[in-house]
Amino acid sequence: MNYQTPVTALKGVGTKRAEELSQAGIQTLGDLIKMLPRRYEDRTRMGEFAGEPRDFPVTVRLKVNKKGTLRRIRRGMSLFVLPVEWTSPEGEAVKGEINWFNQPYMGQNFTPGDAYYFFGRIKKEEGQPYRMYAPKYAPEEKAEEFLTIVPIYKKTSGIGEKVYQSLIRQITDKIRSGEIKPHDLSSGEDYLPDDIKTTYHLTGLTEMLCGIHFPESKEELSHARRRLKFEEGLTIALGIERIKNRGYGTQAILNDPSVLDSFLKSLPFSLTNAQKRVLDEVVNDLASTKPMNRMVEGDVGSGKTVIAAAAALLTARAGLQTAYMAPTEILSEQHEKTFHEFLDPFGIQIVRLTGSTPSKKAKKRKDMIRSGQAQVIIGTHALIQESVDYYNLGLVITDEQHRFGVKQRGKLTNKGDCHTLVMSATPIPRSIALTLFGDLDLSVIDERPAGRKRIKTYFYTSKRLRDILSFMEKEIGEGHQAYLVCPFIEESEEMPEVHDATRVYKEIKKYAQNRFNIGLVTGKMKAEEKDREMRKFKDKKTDLLVATSVIEVGIDVPDATVMLILNADRFGLAQLHQLRGRIGRSEKQSYCFLVSDNLAPNTIERMKIIVENEDGSEIAKADYKLRGPGEYFGTHQSGYGGLKLLDPMRERKLFEDCIACAKTVYPSGDKDMMLLKEKLLKEFDQANNEISLT
Ligand code: ADP
Ligand code: MG
Repeated sequence: MNYQTPVTALKGVGTKRAEELSQAGIQTLGDLIKMLPRRYEDRTRMGEFAGEPRDFPVTVRLKVNKKGTLRRIRRGMSLFVLPVEWTSPEGEAVKGEINWFNQPYMGQNFTPGDAYYFFGRIKKEEGQPYRMYAPKYAPEEKAEEFLTIVPIYKKTSGIGEKVYQSLIRQITDKIRSGEIKPHDLSSGEDYLPDDIKTTYHLTGLTEMLCGIHFPESKEELSHARRRLKFEEGLTIALGIERIKNRGYGTQAILNDPSVLDSFLKSLPFSLTNAQKRVLDEVVNDLASTKPMNRMVEGDVGSGKTVIAAAAALLTARAGLQTAYMAPTEILSEQHEKTFHEFLDPFGIQIVRLTGSTPSKKAKKRKDMIRSGQAQVIIGTHALIQESVDYYNLGLVITDEQHRFGVKQRGKLTNKGDCHTLVMSATPIPRSIALTLFGDLDLSVIDERPAGRKRIKTYFYTSKRLRDILSFMEKEIGEGHQAYLVCPFIEESEEMPEVHDATRVYKEIKKYAQNRFNIGLVTGKMKAEEKDREMRKFKDKKTDLLVATSVIEVGIDVPDATVMLILNADRFGLAQLHQLRGRIGRSEKQSYCFLVSDNLAPNTIERMKIIVENEDGSEIAKADYKLRGPGEYFGTHQSGYGGLKLLDPMRERKLFEDCIACAKTVYPSGDKDMMLLKEKLLKEFDQANNEISLT
């Protein structure tokens, strides 16, 4: 047996189960062993039945006193009550009960007078006995099997956690007994050379695999997790190392001062000093055969697009193509428009390609891209499709990088030997950017174009809503537009005090009585639907846009001058700042109203930061302090390319170890090191680079 062996080789897997597993993407033993438990039940943690009430489950040993009774509590609902008794360490007897809903035959599983282990949360209400609801249990003689740390896997349709436990247990047993080798390479017991394991204090492969699934102790689990995190970190660090070592094969894009000069003269404004400095940095990078890898970081409205356009113009004049990747359809459209304004005077051929480009048009545009006729290609993820062939790609620009993460960046930079420019409005502390992105140079636009008015920002409770609404209506009456932002709510959440966008939309429609037009965008809508609504707002067919935070990124509607944010306390500070950046995009005075009835000191402090600051990096610093880096960047929900366990923000030291290790592994000529490098880079590519640019 090995990792390629089909699951049918395991006990309990017939054709039907194999079919179900296959639907969950699992065909081989290797697929199973790669599943990570979502969490663990620590049944080794023994507790006192009559102790302090606790919030976490514990195991208790209880004697079953009597047979138990079944009660009908209401129609179709029954409650089975099993009386139990606990003996405290002092020898005192405490009576209590175990309850099960709708399990009338539970009594059959217990013999009065015998002792059992129960695992669950212990509840105690005033005047009531100690209780557990539907705990896991086992008779005393099964203690060894029961009192363990149990992995809980994600359920998939038709397959419960017990099934996964039993199947994976069979594999780890075979690994422990040596029947299955712990990995599928041809030689050795472990792909991590001993040197690395010793230097970084990492456990062996067998111990890791068995320890992550069926740990025999908490220590074994934590060692297993540590090694897994290390492997994840090493994988990404090797990917970065490879990018860094790409060498100097890129085509240099030499600066043509006369082109740049006439470009700057053609603009309706002159660049700020910060823009000039950043443009210089970009132009210098482009002129080298070493691929540029630069992030331009600038607050919303700081004028990043013009830098991108200048770079694209130089690239086109050097006879090379530029691909500009935006996170959404509507933003790609907006960039297309802006690029036409900036670059039409220079006769640059711009095409746009997105997922919704009709196939006939898409084919024609792809032909233009292939023949080199298209000089600037603007689009969404469609730009990295396999079917897009570039004639000679020289520059890749990605917008609002934090939306894409390392993952897509890998896709764009691994294969294409071209310059890359990343535009970001999220101020990332420099040290963290360097750790995370490793190879990235940073340019900061820390100055806003002159003549912008401060956005007047206020924090009110909902008592002032009427006033705010009439103010909005007045602004709309003057030909301006407004946003009304509601927090995103999970469907499972039931919180009457939280404003749901769809409900607010209906209410505001009633309120407006056709005096003005209202649109709605929410995260639940399909992309096309969202785009349609956004476009209506951009084209001024709607005056007020009710939205969730989906509007936060990059959208430019200069006539929008008012923003009302409901339940403002539910947003992160960085998010509020991004949202507010949607207004104040012209010379007109803009207003932002933060509304919340949550007056906790912490909320007031946070709202004050937004009211008093307009500088994104100040706000980021404050947010970072209040919430910690993981929350701020949202790394733990999404995960950076291939990272599942490791949070590089929270575990800087471990990630730095990975980077150090990658630096020795990458150039090494040692056979084991080379095998390791090959294996991990393959995984990096699988996680980051299913599709390549060239
Ligand atoms: P962001 O950095 O958020 O992407 P944009 O590039 O969209 O900002 O610029 C915001 C607006 O400011 C655009 O309308 C742009 O034309 C304008 N702008 C850019 N640079 C300047 C400048 N130096 N002076 C005046 N307006 C500028
Ligand atoms: Mg922008």
